[in-house]
Amino acid sequence: MDLGIETLATISRGPVNERESPKPLHNALRKLARYQRRLAKKVKGSNGYRKLRLRIARLHKRIADIRVNTLHQLTSYLSDHFAEVVIEDLNIKGMMANGRLARHIADVGAFEFRRQMTYKMDWRGGVLTVADRWYPSSKRCSACGAHRPDLTLADRVYHCQVCGHRQCRDANASKNLENYTARSAGIHAAGDDGSARAV
Ligand SMILES: [Zn+2]
Repeated sequence: MDLGIETLATISRGPVNERESPKPLHNALRKLARYQRRLAKKVKGSNGYRKLRLRIARLHKRIADIRVNTLHQLTSYLSDHFAEVVIEDLNIKGMMANGRLARHIADVGAFEFRRQMTYKMDWRGGVLTVADRWYPSSKRCSACGAHRPDLTLADRVYHCQVCGHRQCRDANASKNLENYTARSAGIHAAGDDGSARAV
């Protein structure tokens, strides 16, 4: 499973492959960006500045609440439907949307997601596997295992220059995470290194 901002979760196996971030979250994020632009123009310490600061703080709280609720739905779904889930160690994709802000929110989300997954998988006797942070889940072709170090955050589609594979960036990343378990268990996914097959 690949965790993101726009698409909250991309799951390599169905029945539900994508979980969008809820609309109220999008709206609140847009509002927050607007407030922060406005705040930058205000005189520090002025009345208007203080009022806006307060509204921003409240909005932060609302965003956090929505995010936690959404994550609870997601982690319940995952722990109910899967015996093993592989996730990323860090959410580096947080840098995507609006710089530091989005990154911060994504990091908080990733932390809370992992906390919930850990205890929920445990309750149900499942396994949570965390791919090590150097595993190139985004920059690796999920079909042939080739790497594309030049892939940027703007590339929404993974297009492999070795085998021609084309896949939505998040879906490619989630597939790579699924393959991660096989690798760590010494089982190579088809085409992973060109020689080995499942044993
Ligand atoms: Zn490829």
